[in-house]
Amino acid sequence: MENLVYSVIFSLNKIFWLVIILLIIWYGFKFIEKRNKNLKNSKKNNDDKENIEAFQCKVCGLWSTESCDNEKCPLNN
Ligand SMILES: [Zn+2]
Repeated sequence: MENLVYSVIFSLNKIFWLVIILLIIWYGFKFIEKRNKNLKNSKKNNDDKENIEAFQCKVCGLWSTESCDNEKCPLNN
C-alpha cells in the first residue's frame, strides 16, 4: 500500500514536470512566432518603401516611379 502511494506521488511529480516543460516549449514557440511576425512586418514595410522610390530605366536611363515615362523609350514601343 505504501509503495502504491509513493508511485502515485512520483507519477504526479513526473506529470507536473511534463506540464512545466510543455508550457516552456509552448511559450518558446509563441515567442519565436511573434518575433518572426515582427521581422516579416518590418521587411514588408521596407518593400513598400522601395516601391515608392523612383527607379532608373535600364534602356533609356530616365528616372520614373512605376514604368518608364519616356515616350521615346524602346520599352514603350
Ligand atoms: Zn525607358
